[in-house]
Amino acid sequence: MKPRVTKYIFVTGGVSSSIGKGIVAASVGALLEARGLTVTHIKLDPYVNVDPGTMSPFQHGEVYVTDDGAETDLDLGHYERFTNATMSRASNATTGRIYGSVIEKERRGDFLGGTVQVIPHVTDEIKQFVMDGARGVDVCICEVGGTVGDIESLPFLEALRQLKLGLGPANAINIHVTLVPYIAAAGELKTKPTQHSVQKLREIGIQPDIIVARCDRELADDLKRKISLFCNVPPNAVVSGVDVDTLYAVPLAFHREGLDRLVIDGLNIWTREPVLDRWEKIVQAVRDANRRVTIGIVGKYVDHTDAYKSLHEALIHGGLDNKAKVDLRYIDSEDIEKRGAETLLKGVDGVLVPGGFGNRGSEGKIAAVRYAREQKVPFFGICLGLQVAVIEFARHVCELEDAHSVEFKESAKNPIIHLMAHQHGVERKGGSMRLGSYDCDLKKGTLAATVYGKKRIQERHRHRYEVNNDYRSVMTEKGLAFSGLSPDELLVEIVEIGDHPWFLGCQFHPEFKSRPYAPHPLFSAFVKASLAHGSCDD
Ligand code: GLN
Repeated sequence: MKPRVTKYIFVTGGVSSSIGKGIVAASVGALLEARGLTVTHIKLDPYVNVDPGTMSPFQHGEVYVTDDGAETDLDLGHYERFTNATMSRASNATTGRIYGSVIEKERRGDFLGGTVQVIPHVTDEIKQFVMDGARGVDVCICEVGGTVGDIESLPFLEALRQLKLGLGPANAINIHVTLVPYIAAAGELKTKPTQHSVQKLREIGIQPDIIVARCDRELADDLKRKISLFCNVPPNAVVSGVDVDTLYAVPLAFHREGLDRLVIDGLNIWTREPVLDRWEKIVQAVRDANRRVTIGIVGKYVDHTDAYKSLHEALIHGGLDNKAKVDLRYIDSEDIEKRGAETLLKGVDGVLVPGGFGNRGSEGKIAAVRYAREQKVPFFGICLGLQVAVIEFARHVCELEDAHSVEFKESAKNPIIHLMAHQHGVERKGGSMRLGSYDCDLKKGTLAATVYGKKRIQERHRHRYEVNNDYRSVMTEKGLAFSGLSPDELLVEIVEIGDHPWFLGCQFHPEFKSRPYAPHPLFSAFVKASLAHGSCDD
């Protein structure tokens, strides 16, 4: 039976960051959908930036872009890849955004002489945000970023504590995700950090209903009993979250541990048994992959691969569609500048230049494009990747001297990539790029049209610069096809080269729309071409 009101699951994290809280939340969403419920996800992030759009990928990882153009935390990517929920501006709030709107209300005089305080004004704002974002679904899964014990997350945890109380029994539950480390010297898994983290939670009035203990090996029953005793949860509500070979096996592993049953019992919802074939098929496909392909990813954030989270997943999805395991080789574009493209790219089956910002390493990316174009290695350029591909073509095929993006060199003689009129003089940087979903029309008979199999597509954007239309005719003459354009034909969305096994650049980010059960056609086609290239080499 469907619940009559929206029920809530609050997910917190303890002991350490980066233990896969987002994947736990996303997997719970997947399991509830498999039981026939509708779900949505919310992420509350304790940092003061209004959104992660102004944060360096070195610090924060990928900025995930939604259809409605919100720049959000990368966990929203997991939510969209694991569930049918569509993320939006209503799905991610930070301390900065919450305080921003409380302060705006104060300036407007909405508080009528009252003293504005964290409790109740900030906590009310958080509660309202969560309830607004949860509207219309059976279950809302709300994750709090950071680790319990951080000063920053206190207002969020307090708001969720109040919300749970207000919702009444069986309408909200808390899942606490912690780490149970294996101490090699003792040869044992240790529960003490989990005990302390739950103590911290209970100090602020939150008693977890379920504990998900992340560990590198199965949690034996006696350890579950120990955690149960010290943390005041029933032993069967201690779930082990053991590392698995593919992310997409996590929902199945949690189902085996009984997590979805615990959740629906806790929320007093009756549902059918879950239908899990979607996940079984994906995991089988991962394990059945019997071909291999190596993709060279040429970028700047190569030591911080969280910056390429969705890209990484989209390539894996593309591999699944071709029964192939995709090996990703991250290559620093500055290394290419020092050691040459040939040295570093030799042996890769496909070259991908992903999105990025700033001049550093740009010449290395241009050299990588040149290598792929001349050596006829499949090439896929995404956003900045398209821009460097067009620059490379302008320089070396059209022989346009000093061809550049004005992002790299403002005074360039041939500004092949430039700012559109409305982007000139943008001073408030946050949220001011071309963001979110835009239509794109594909030219008949091109690679893009064949790959997508339709005429109009929608893809997500996050960039400031565009191809300079003044150069379109000279480049077309020399063989660069502008195969995807905005419906008014003013913006270049896709470029390709006909006389090449597979060479395509897109101004948007297709990786945000790839799903493990519905791989994005561009990634499938790129992996396929790379496999073909690899087999020619053998
Ligand atoms: N820096 C480029 C721009 O702003 C590309 C951005 C990106 O790759 N996301 O247009």
